[in-house]
Amino acid sequence: MASMIEIPAGGEKIKIDNGVLLVPDNPVIPFIEGDGTGRDIWRASKRVFDAAVEKAYQGKRTIAWAEVYAGEKAFNKLGSWLPEETIETFQEYLVGIKGPLTTPVGGGIRSLNVALRKALDLYVCLRPVRYYAGVPSPVKHPENVDMVVFRENTEDIYTGIEFEHGTEGDEKFKQLLRSNFPEDYNKIRFPDTAGFAVKPVSQEGTARLVRAAIQYGLENNRRSVTLVHKGNIMKYTEGSFRNWGYEVAEAEFGDQVYTWSQWNRTVESSGEEAANQEQDEALKAGKLLVKDVIADIVFQQTITRAREFDIIATMNLNGDYLSDALAAQVGGIGIAPGGNINYTSGHAIFEATHGTAPKYADKDVVNPGSVVLSGEMMLRYMGWHEAADLIVTGMEGAIAAKTVTYDFHRLMEGATKLSTSEFGTAVIEHMEG
Ligand code: NAP
Repeated sequence: MASMIEIPAGGEKIKIDNGVLLVPDNPVIPFIEGDGTGRDIWRASKRVFDAAVEKAYQGKRTIAWAEVYAGEKAFNKLGSWLPEETIETFQEYLVGIKGPLTTPVGGGIRSLNVALRKALDLYVCLRPVRYYAGVPSPVKHPENVDMVVFRENTEDIYTGIEFEHGTEGDEKFKQLLRSNFPEDYNKIRFPDTAGFAVKPVSQEGTARLVRAAIQYGLENNRRSVTLVHKGNIMKYTEGSFRNWGYEVAEAEFGDQVYTWSQWNRTVESSGEEAANQEQDEALKAGKLLVKDVIADIVFQQTITRAREFDIIATMNLNGDYLSDALAAQVGGIGIAPGGNINYTSGHAIFEATHGTAPKYADKDVVNPGSVVLSGEMMLRYMGWHEAADLIVTGMEGAIAAKTVTYDFHRLMEGATKLSTSEFGTAVIEHMEG
């Protein structure tokens, strides 16, 4: 079949050399428009991206957008929810962006997003969570929230090894437990009706995630990385995540970090006062603090002591819960951006974190902020910081002027309600501060 993908003439490939992204002045960026409200959002967002790049580089740099297909649009055009050509294009051009996609009901693919992450081994789900002044928030001090979540994207319960009660697989799995691990089998309270799921967490999977979080922390002058886990209960998955995380920190980053495992060792050898003094000195010297916290208490502490959290590194399921909970503190789903990244191969797809909100499709009403800020992350990842900064200034300005879409308008006093496209224009107009 002939290719459906048109690569703009003159567009060049982003490449990677020794872990360093090489971005030409006219990179080809594949994009998936997205289903439902994705169409309205993409139209507005693309205008914002092009305006930011134009204002920042006056024509010296431009993005060569190449549409690729997934979701309903792909299914209607090509009879496939996720055509192979789409994956190949992302593979070839390294960096891309996508709007929300409908999850097909029934049929082979559980989630298109998960399938894309798997195909490209995008092991980090990066979710920055920061406050834009004026955004309606349910907490008293949303301005204290400035966190970046590194969620592991390829392991944990999301691996998808599950056995439904009553199936042959479930019976075989139970038999395996019964014959090989009878003591464990006897721990199951209601074995006759239990379904099962498997939770693999590996050393390599942990190491690459924590390494990326620490590297990001050092490069961006952040204060701390908190490993979030439920290791008190799940010792050999979540507990190992914590232990391996500290090992990576100490083995690979040595003097640049101070870890709570070091603190514990000093407590044992010389007492708590000495350990506290050692930590104070390390922080004064500008070292990055690597600490850990149990996954349940983190939900309290990120609300009651938000300032103590900076970068958060955690496993797939914890990260899923936590990143949405944190996003709620700073204005919720309409403006929460995300990126899925493999820092080794360079592959990255930036994406809206909300769904397709089908009831608003083609009405030009929803907030495009999530895709706009995902694009901001993408530009920063490409090293185009000037354009990314303009987008942040534009968003700050539009929100501070109380010119917002319906979702914020209904929670803000004295605001002006804008359509999706008008909000895009407002962001562009506020780019120069
Ligand atoms: P959803 O599309 O995220 O919408 C839920 C609600 O969130 C909307 O009704 C709306 O709230 C609010 N919302 C979502 N996007 C918004 C935006 N841009 N601006 C302002 N408000 C926004 O979740 P869903 O209805 O559960 O899922 C619909 C479809 O999306 C499903 O097929 C699902 O599988 C898919 N999905 C895709 C992704 C993805 O591609 N990343 C993620 C999640 C879900 P109000 O009604 O209060 O205005």
